[in-house]
Amino acid sequence: MLVVLKQGATQAEIDAVCDRIRELGFEPHPMPGSMRVAIGITGNQGPLDPALFARYPQVAEAVPVSKAWKLVSREVKSEDTVIELAGEQGRAARVGGGSFAVLAGPCAVESREQLMAAAEAVSRAGAHVLRGGAFKPRTSPYSFQGLKGGGLELLAEARRATGLPVVTEIVDPRDLEQVERHADMLQVGARNMQNFALLEAVGSSSKPVLLKRGMSARVDDLLMAAEYICKNGNYRVALCERGIRTFETITRNTLDLGSVPTIQRLTHLPVIIDPSHGTGDHASVPALARAAVALGADGVMIEVHPNPAEALSDGPQSLTPASFEKLMPSLRAIAEVVGLSI
Ligand code: PEP
Ligand code: MN
Repeated sequence: MLVVLKQGATQAEIDAVCDRIRELGFEPHPMPGSMRVAIGITGNQGPLDPALFARYPQVAEAVPVSKAWKLVSREVKSEDTVIELAGEQGRAARVGGGSFAVLAGPCAVESREQLMAAAEAVSRAGAHVLRGGAFKPRTSPYSFQGLKGGGLELLAEARRATGLPVVTEIVDPRDLEQVERHADMLQVGARNMQNFALLEAVGSSSKPVLLKRGMSARVDDLLMAAEYICKNGNYRVALCERGIRTFETITRNTLDLGSVPTIQRLTHLPVIIDPSHGTGDHASVPALARAAVALGADGVMIEVHPNPAEALSDGPQSLTPASFEKLMPSLRAIAEVVGLSI
């Protein structure tokens, strides 16, 4: 259910409608737009009678929402969600709303030397956000699991050195406070897309979330997972298409670029493409990153390692600093053609 207020409704009038929704036993989610405010309602089992809001003159209409996921849908909020990330030294990132963000860095934080080399390289080349995993959810329990707290400290150091805001993965709700302290954006990985306790935890965070599509998840499942986060009050969610498992095995995953325009029509949340995990092959990454800009995605996330041959995780799909630097001007050129700012 969505309650749409008339243009010019005051805060007191918005609050009164929210109180009414709570009085009915439901949860209000005000969604400010540039023209008017809409209030999403969750917690109701069936459709609500619009007459419930008849005594509020500022209510323009009360309409049912047809989709199972509500808060993330364009029916509830037609304008793009824009996520602003502030770093240091004037560095910042804007994800969504016509801005194309480049998130880059190593798969995993391995050492001070490795992270600093990667961070300086992506910063120099013009990336907007530094990525790097401190907690690594690996398929094998014998693979490198990340430097954990020590990795977070190194990310904070790289943030201070380059000024770039940082995105890093969280794998356990118990780590929330620690990860929040060091990260500008919390990544929920493909393996945890339906870890509902984790979704609820990041949903109560003040930090924005990068939610990656599960390897067997349909778009519907991804949007439902995002709904868990928004339902808990955190509306700053970016989705990430990172490839899914199909019958095709020549690439690590099948990067589902075809779903992106559909996702953008269904939801106001920004969509980031990850061609590194999407293909598993560094040689394919530049072309797919360019495709991401051309199709009007809201950003790319690219793995960059100073020495991919020695990487402790995802070396084969990591770009060298030189190939990342070579890629950036072509992303800028395509962005200009399709009307995105980069
Ligand atoms: C990652 O970004 O390094 C990662 C583990 O990705 P995914 O969750 O998409 O596999
Ligand atoms: Mn990786």
